[in-house]
Amino acid sequence: MKNFFQIGLMLIAAAFIFTRFPDSRDVIKTADTGPRKAETSREISGTIKKGETLFEVFKRCGLDAAELFEIREAAADVHRLRKVQPGQKYKISVAEDNKVDSLSYWIDDDGILEVTRRDQGFTAVRTAIEYEKKMEYIGGVIKYNLISSIGKGRERLMLALQLSDIFAWDVDFASDLREGDTFKIVVEGLYLEGRFKKFGNILSAELNNNGKMYKAFGFAYNGKTEYYDTDGRSLKKAFLKAPLNFRRISSYYSGRRLHPILKVYRPHHGLDYSAPVWTPVSAIGDGKIAYAGYKGGYGKLVIIRHRNGYETYYGHLSKIAKNIRTGKNVDQGQIIGNVGNSGLSTGPHLHFEVRINNKSVNPLRVRWPRGEPIPDQLLADFRKFRKRMDMQLASITPVFFASAEKMRDNDPKDDL
Ligand SMILES: [Zn+2]
Repeated sequence: MKNFFQIGLMLIAAAFIFTRFPDSRDVIKTADTGPRKAETSREISGTIKKGETLFEVFKRCGLDAAELFEIREAAADVHRLRKVQPGQKYKISVAEDNKVDSLSYWIDDDGILEVTRRDQGFTAVRTAIEYEKKMEYIGGVIKYNLISSIGKGRERLMLALQLSDIFAWDVDFASDLREGDTFKIVVEGLYLEGRFKKFGNILSAELNNNGKMYKAFGFAYNGKTEYYDTDGRSLKKAFLKAPLNFRRISSYYSGRRLHPILKVYRPHHGLDYSAPVWTPVSAIGDGKIAYAGYKGGYGKLVIIRHRNGYETYYGHLSKIAKNIRTGKNVDQGQIIGNVGNSGLSTGPHLHFEVRINNKSVNPLRVRWPRGEPIPDQLLADFRKFRKRMDMQLASITPVFFASAEKMRDNDPKDDL
């Protein structure tokens, strides 16, 4: 017994010397420390650190760089390994003669690059990560904002953004939500070996906002999933509900606080969004830049001309985005500049205005044209799906998630 133990220790020691004392961040497993003739093959696995290359991993682990070049070449058609991403996993199996048997690199959430040694050299394939799918039912009560009310962690944050994208044409998640509003979500949960990894697509959702009910059903046809309301009408419209797009704002603030609570004021023919300087401003619809520059009381101003005589104005900006110039096309949701305090303004805010044939209109009252509805011949299928989803939504009871945390409020400011 004592002998076995000693041999085991020696093998572990040998493996460490072999690898030239790798950083503790590499996990080294000796394949077998049993009593018989030792199998000295090892498996190196780890996560790419910021600025790290596979070359450095190879050097640190005492592997032959020439083999890495062969591996890169073999992999080139599947995935280029020259630039690996920080945070991505890798696994290298090394044979007894210190030659690489195989290398796996997690390209993204959905695929792994697998390079394997064959008689004639390395071959590479991309294998899909096969998740087990389970239906998840999540319901929350709004306190402060959506992100603080949906639960903790990155996956819950991503779910909040997915939900805000689905309703972005009807609801301004930065300023429309009220305390006590509720949401319900039926979403795919993606699991690996029984462990939750991430959320997939939202199948259906319900939002009770200030007494008004919004519903979304994700229905797939022609290989594409789009979201529809109860009557099978597309939720997509020619214009987003707000120029301070919740996803853009949230990702901008994710490194600091979650995001500020924005307030909307309507002291004139436009809308004023109180928001911190540098908050990104998005085009609410596709169009062409009609003006981008300084204009009197508006300060730094962007005017976008849309179809059918619509124009949108974005004023008091601190900065106009680099590619936003007169005559250029913009896409719905594209960032055109940042909130500021330029022109006749007494505090950072976005002045937003909609004109139709050069007449100001209340943006909150305009009925924007919608995207394509579900074709008639698929309506029966859609209704069946909707019925099933409605039952599942009805089974969800919204709860307060403990992570609800108060965000900083902004003072009302105005001007023009
Ligand atoms: Zn204003």
